[in-house]
Amino acid sequence: MTDETTESASSNTTEEVTEPIVHDKLISRRIWYYVFGEWSCPDCENEWTHKRTRINLSKYKNRVKADDLQDNERVKQQCRKCSSKNSKLIKYSPLSSEDIKPPVRDHLIWKDAERNEWYRVYGTWDCDNNNCETIRWTSAYTFVLLSKYLEEISAADLTRDTHYWGQDCKSTQCNSSRGTLKEYRPLRRGSSKNRPRHLGTFCHKCPVSPCVQTEL
Ligand SMILES: [Zn+2]
Ligand SMILES: [Zn+2]
Ligand SMILES: [Zn+2]
Repeated sequence: MTDETTESASSNTTEEVTEPIVHDKLISRRIWYYVFGEWSCPDCENEWTHKRTRINLSKYKNRVKADDLQDNERVKQQCRKCSSKNSKLIKYSPLSSEDIKPPVRDHLIWKDAERNEWYRVYGTWDCDNNNCETIRWTSAYTFVLLSKYLEEISAADLTRDTHYWGQDCKSTQCNSSRGTLKEYRPLRRGSSKNRPRHLGTFCHKCPVSPCVQTEL
């Protein structure tokens, strides 16, 4: 048994007709939805829980019971004990709010001289210049206010230079244009550098004065 077993949220609601709450970020490839799953293996009787169990989104919306899900309406799991692929989803429930909070890793927090806390994310940017060839780029050095990140404020509701650090267009033909943050998401595991990278052209947009680069 893992510690996950104690966090199983109860889903014994009486309103069978209403749709359960659906969080966009728990939808995967448009058809899957992440839930807390309770599994068992008929071959060795092993039981386990899994916080990233995926079931068919429309079945989730219709509150179809685990028992009534077809094999292709849930993503199979292999038994961790005997490797059997006959495992069965016994029960599922919505993930707890604790489990769906955006992840925060300390080494991705950057505190500036004014004690503002910025969080490094993966951002997608659009050039403000409509005639630009590059138009869109991505950056793993996108910095968003940690408080906005935690509240999961979408990029469209963030103000450049106040809530996130602006960036120059990546095109050298267009470097007087700036970008607007379109989307952002947590960095995937494995990103280890913890410092903002203030390469020359970026620094004039730094909200910190003097630029943090000069302090490093
Ligand atoms: Zn087994
Ligand atoms: Zn551009
Ligand atoms: Zn700077």
